[in-house]
Formats: sequence, structure tokens, C-alpha cells
Amino acid sequence: MPSKDRHLDNQASRKKNLLRSDKAEEFYCFRCKADKKSKLRAEWHTTEGVKIICNGCYGELVAMSSVAPP
Ligand SMILES: [Zn+2]
Repeated sequence: MPSKDRHLDNQASRKKNLLRSDKAEEFYCFRCKADKKSKLRAEWHTTEGVKIICNGCYGELVAMSSVAPP
């Protein structure tokens, strides 16, 4: 398994939108550095642009941003 790209994790609290499709769609998760197929994916607005991430990474970022200091 390739290691995840965590170089933007310090931006975990930035705007994220969870997107839901009617059927599973293929996309590339920026953070997993892997192709995924799911009904759920998320857009993450970073200083390097909008990154597409999987539902798992979205959950990790939400957890990180909720414990991050203000
Ligand atoms: Zn991911």
C-alpha cells in the first residue's frame, strides 16, 4: 500500500463538501494516492486548490479538524 499524502493535513479544518452519487463512480483520491470507486467522495478546498478525496479521508480530516486547536 502506498503511504497517504498528508502534506496538506494541517489544512484539515478548511472547507469540505461531501458529495453523494446515485451510483458508484470512479475517482482518484488525492490523499490515498489511489483510484477509488464509491458513491461518496468529497471536495476539499486547500491552498493548493480543490482536492478530491474519499469518504475515509474525509472522515479522518473531520476528526482531525474537530480536535485541532483554534
Ligand atoms: Zn482517501
